[in-house]
Amino acid sequence: MSMEGLMEVRDVTVTYGSGESRVVALDHVSLTVDRGDSVALWGRSGSGKTTALHVMGGLIVPTAGVVNWDRKPLSSLDARARSHARAHGIAYVFQGANLLPTLTAFENVSFARHVSRGETRFSPTDLLELVGLANKADSLPGELSGGEAQRVALARAVAQAPRVLLCDEPTGHLDSDTSERILDLIEALRRELGFTLVIATHDTNVVARVDREIEILDGRIVRQGAFA
Ligand code: ADP
Ligand code: MG
Repeated sequence: MSMEGLMEVRDVTVTYGSGESRVVALDHVSLTVDRGDSVALWGRSGSGKTTALHVMGGLIVPTAGVVNWDRKPLSSLDARARSHARAHGIAYVFQGANLLPTLTAFENVSFARHVSRGETRFSPTDLLELVGLANKADSLPGELSGGEAQRVALARAVAQAPRVLLCDEPTGHLDSDTSERILDLIEALRRELGFTLVIATHDTNVVARVDREIEILDGRIVRQGAFA
C-alpha cells in the first residue's frame, strides 16, 4: 500500500445468491485509490463496477477479502460504524439522481448536509449556486430535467464534505451534451473542493478525463493504466 493510499481493496470477492443462481460479481479484486486520485473504473455492463463501488463505500460487506479505508478495515465494521464512515467521508452519486421525490432541490441538499453533520463550509444555497441551480432551489425533482437532477445529486453529495466521491455511471442516463457538462462540473467541484474521485463508467469520454483507469471485466481487474 502506498503512503498516500486512502482506500485499499485487497483480494476482495463478492458473490450473490447461492447454488445454481450463485453469481461471482467480484473475483479476487485488488486495487488502491490514493488521496487526490481521480480514477475511472471502466467496464461493460455486468462487469462488477457497481458492486466494486458498493464494497469501497461499505454499502456491502465482501464475501472474502478486506477493504481498508484510511487504513482502517471498513469491511469488518458493524453497520452503524460503516454508516458513520460514510457520513464522514464517502459520498455517492448514482446513475439516476435518486433524489427524494417529495423534497425540493434545496431540501434534498439541506437534508444530506444535516445527516452528515454539516461539516461543509457551504450552505445549501451556496451548493446549489456551485452547480448552477440557485434558480431551481424550490423545484421538486419531478420538475427538473435529467441533467438538472444530476446536478442536484452532485450538490447533495458535495454537501456531505466528502473526502471521496463515488460516482456510479453519473452520465449514464444523459445525452452527450449534458454528460459533458456534468463531467465539467465534477472536475470543477474537484478543483474547488479537492476530493478523491472514483467514477464507474462504460463511457470512454469519462475515462479520457481522469488520471487513471482501472478496467474490469467479468469481476476481474484486467488492466490498470495511468495517463500522462
Ligand atoms: P456493473 O455495475 O458493471 O453493471 P454489477 O456490479 O451491477 O456490474 O453486477 C455484477 C454481476 O453481479 C452481474 O452479473 C449482476 O447481474 C450481478 N448482480 C449485481 N447485483 C446483484 C444482486 N443484488 N443479486 C444478484 N446478482 C447481482
Ligand atoms: Mg452498475
